[in-house]
Amino acid sequence: MNSNPNDPDLETWVDIPGNTDFPIQNLPFGISSRVGDDKPFAASRIGDQVIDLARLAELGGFSGIDLPGDIFTQKDLNAFMALGNGITRAVRQRLSEILRKQHTEHPMRALAGQWLLDLSATRQLLPVSIGDYTDFYSSLEHATNVGTMFRDPTNPLLPNWKHIPVGYHGRSSSIRVSGHAFHRPHGQLKPQEGDPEYGPSKMVDFELEVGFILGQSTEMGEQIPASRAEEYIFGLVLFNDWSARDIQKWEYVPLGPFLGKNFASTMSPWIVTMDALEPYRTQGPVQDPPVLPYLQTEGAHTYDIDLEVLIQPFDGAPSRVCRSNFKYLYWNMCQQLAHHTVNGCNMEVGDLCASGTISGPTPDSFGSMLELCWGGTRFVTLSDGSERKSIQDGDTVILRGICQNGVTRIGFGDCVATLLPAKS
Ligand code: CA
Repeated sequence: MNSNPNDPDLETWVDIPGNTDFPIQNLPFGISSRVGDDKPFAASRIGDQVIDLARLAELGGFSGIDLPGDIFTQKDLNAFMALGNGITRAVRQRLSEILRKQHTEHPMRALAGQWLLDLSATRQLLPVSIGDYTDFYSSLEHATNVGTMFRDPTNPLLPNWKHIPVGYHGRSSSIRVSGHAFHRPHGQLKPQEGDPEYGPSKMVDFELEVGFILGQSTEMGEQIPASRAEEYIFGLVLFNDWSARDIQKWEYVPLGPFLGKNFASTMSPWIVTMDALEPYRTQGPVQDPPVLPYLQTEGAHTYDIDLEVLIQPFDGAPSRVCRSNFKYLYWNMCQQLAHHTVNGCNMEVGDLCASGTISGPTPDSFGSMLELCWGGTRFVTLSDGSERKSIQDGDTVILRGICQNGVTRIGFGDCVATLLPAKS
C-alpha cells in the first residue's frame, strides 16, 4: 500500500469532475454546516462532495488517531490545528486511505451515505477564528508599481523595502468567508482641489493575496527562526483584501492604512495544507542585496500557485482581468514569520498573515485595479464591453488559485464576494 497522500497515481472511488480543484491529492480542511442546520462541523472536500469529519469520527473512521471527542464539532479548526502536524497529517492520511479507489473493502466506504454530502447540501463557514490579521507588502512588482505611480518613478522603492518584509496590523473582525456581499464603504475623501468631503468611496478595489494560517502559537519573547517557520504554518487560503483607494489616499499618512482597508476582506473556505502544497514547492526570486542573517532561508520556500482574478458584472459573465503567481513574491512566508516574531511578538493559533497584493512582471499580472488601470489613466475592458477603473456596484470579484506541475493539479476553490451599493 502506498501511504503518500500526494502520490499522483492515486485515484478515488468518489465521482469527481476531471478539472476539480479537489482531487484526492488535495484534501483541505474547512468548517461546514448542512443547509437548514446551523450546527458547524469540521470538513474536508473531494470533487463536489463535502466530507463530514465529525460524522466520520463517530463511525470510527479515525480509530487509532489520538483525537479529542469533540474536536470536529467546534465552530472553528483552531483546536484541531493546535494538535500539531503529527495529528493533522494523520487525519489527512486516513482520509486519503478511505477514499482510494482500490480500497474496495474499507468499512467506511459502505457508510459513505452518512458522511459524504453533496456540496449543494452544505454551507461553508469561516474555517478559523482569526485573532489577529497581519498584512504584508511582499511583492516587489506591486511595491514598485505603487511607488512609481505615487512617489518617484526613478526610485520607487523606499530604502527599507529590500531589507524588511514590510507589513502592518490589519483588522480581523471584518474578514468573511467566500460568498458574502458587503456595501460600498463611506469615508472621508479629499478632492484634488478644496476641502475633504464625506461620502461613499468612488474607488473600491480588490487586492489579490494569499494568506497563511498559524497552526501553532508562540510565547511572548519567543522568536520563530526562519529555518523552522514552516512548522508553524497549517496551510494557505486565497484572500481578497478589499481597499477603498480614495479613503486610503487621504488617510494613510503618517500611520498607514486604516478605514480604507478594514471594511471587508474575503477568504476562501478551504485551507489547503502545507503537506498538499509540497509537490509545488519552488524557488523564490533572488534577493539582492543579501538580507540580514535572521531573514536568510536556504532552499525552496515558496510555491508555484497560478492565481487569477475575474470580475463578474451583475447579471453578466465573468471576465478575467489578471493572472499572477504566488512564486513572484520577493519575501517568503518563513521570512515574514521570522520578521514578525523577531521582536518577541507572540503568535496565536488561527492568526492570519496575508502576502500583500501579488503582482507579476507583466501588465496583465497586476493584482489590483489600481495597477491594472495605472492610477486611473486607463480602463480594464470586460467581455460585455463595459469598462472599469474600479469595482462597480453589483460586481462580483472572484479569485482563483491552481497548483499544477504537469502531473497533478490541486486548487483552492473560488474566493468570491459581491459589492453592493452604498447604504443611503
Ligand atoms: Ca493588502
